[in-house]
Amino acid sequence: MIKTDAEVLVAGGGVAGVAAAIASARQGLRTCLVEKESFAGGIGFSGLLRHICGLYLNGENAPEETLNQGLAQEIVCMLNKLSPDKTVKKIGRVYVLPYSRDDLKSVFDKLLSAEPNLEVYLETAVESVKKTGDEITGITIKKSGDKYDITPKVVIDCTGNGEVSAMAGTGFDLSSSEERQLAGYVLRIKGIKDYDEILQIKVPFYLAEAVEKNKLSLYLRFSTLSPGDARDEGYLKISVVVGDDTKSNELAVSEALSVHRYLAERIEQFKSSYVAETSQAVMQREDRRIRGEYTLTEEDILNARKFPDGIVKNSWPIEIWDRNKGTIYKYVPKDDYYEIPFGCLKVKGFNNLLCAGRCISVSHTALGSTRVMGTCISLGEQAGIAAANKIKHGNYLLSGHKI
Ligand SMILES: Cc1cc2nc3c(=O)[nH]c(=O)nc-3n(C[C@H](O)[C@H](O)[C@H](O)COP(=O)(O)OP(=O)(O)OC[C@H]3O[C@@H](n4cnc5c(N)ncnc54)[C@H](O)[C@@H]3O)c2cc1C
Repeated sequence: MIKTDAEVLVAGGGVAGVAAAIASARQGLRTCLVEKESFAGGIGFSGLLRHICGLYLNGENAPEETLNQGLAQEIVCMLNKLSPDKTVKKIGRVYVLPYSRDDLKSVFDKLLSAEPNLEVYLETAVESVKKTGDEITGITIKKSGDKYDITPKVVIDCTGNGEVSAMAGTGFDLSSSEERQLAGYVLRIKGIKDYDEILQIKVPFYLAEAVEKNKLSLYLRFSTLSPGDARDEGYLKISVVVGDDTKSNELAVSEALSVHRYLAERIEQFKSSYVAETSQAVMQREDRRIRGEYTLTEEDILNARKFPDGIVKNSWPIEIWDRNKGTIYKYVPKDDYYEIPFGCLKVKGFNNLLCAGRCISVSHTALGSTRVMGTCISLGEQAGIAAANKIKHGNYLLSGHKI
């Protein structure tokens, strides 16, 4: 039985939602976090990902601290304590933090359970939204077949795909299926013989050959291999194209598995390898982008633009996973960053609805930079703080607001 008088409802417990809920609860607001899965962390936990991107300034020197303070910094400190060997690493021109998903889970569980003002409902989904004028006046959530009504003062949509905003009837953008970025499915492969860097080059080479011979779909050639923690382990990040229906998801999973079979039949080092684990589902890089009071553009990012209502700093490049051309990078000027303004979180036409994480108001290309986990954590935190400001002081941003 769920009975809550939460003032702030956070929908979706991915990295953005966890941060939003903690930040709101820490401001003294009665907060509830509603997550449809049985765990917190979203793709950051279930996706078999290995690096948190978007935490640092990308420049000449290795960063000593995170670009955004607050929860991003706190989470990094807690992760470092659990795995001191996982330190900041440079990949190409950018800095990332390697992490293990079990560590992330343990950090999130600890942070969430430490907040007396926070109720966390797992295996619970937001099912419908009631709207009156420009206000959300009620939310119905569903757990184990039972439905409960909640009347929060502010709602924060952290569902990744803007599901709750769409239920409320907000405007959103969704790229055409042709333009939409490649989705991904990760396989943890064990039993690889003598993993070395050459194998990482061999994989795309063999896949390009398979595409040329019409044995695999074109986009599968943009799959990559990266090392795991053990000598015989590697992570295959398979690029797939997927629609919204279950059938196309099943097809994408079977295509992803066929990549491993193809490699195992042809590359000696893969011969005895096997799929030890997979990401929970095919993961969309791009989904609904909610229309906010401001929509961040590629130009803003590449010019390292700062805003009067800038709330999150980001130095991560625009990373487009194009289904015909593969990965395209466009960099923020070296040693600089751009700001994400609060207007990207404030849903247009709604007084008490914010969004945070992957579904904020950005253009198709800008999303290639804002969607990474480090950035989503800070976006969530700022949404939580803003929601609390609104309830306590009547304004989302306090005067003299500074990042
Ligand atoms: C293939 C791929 C590889 C990536 N690699 C990296 C990487 O290496 N490093 C990096 O930093 N980033 C990476 N990213 C990006 C990053 O992982 C995501 O963009 C980020 O984790 C999004 O966080 P989020 O909290 O906004 O959304 P999500 O993680 O999607 O969380 C949304 C949560 O909302 C829940 N939810 C949805 N609807 C409802 C509802 N109606 N009711 C209740 N709950 C609901 C979902 O179950 C989910 O837990 C990758 C993304 C993809 C797709």
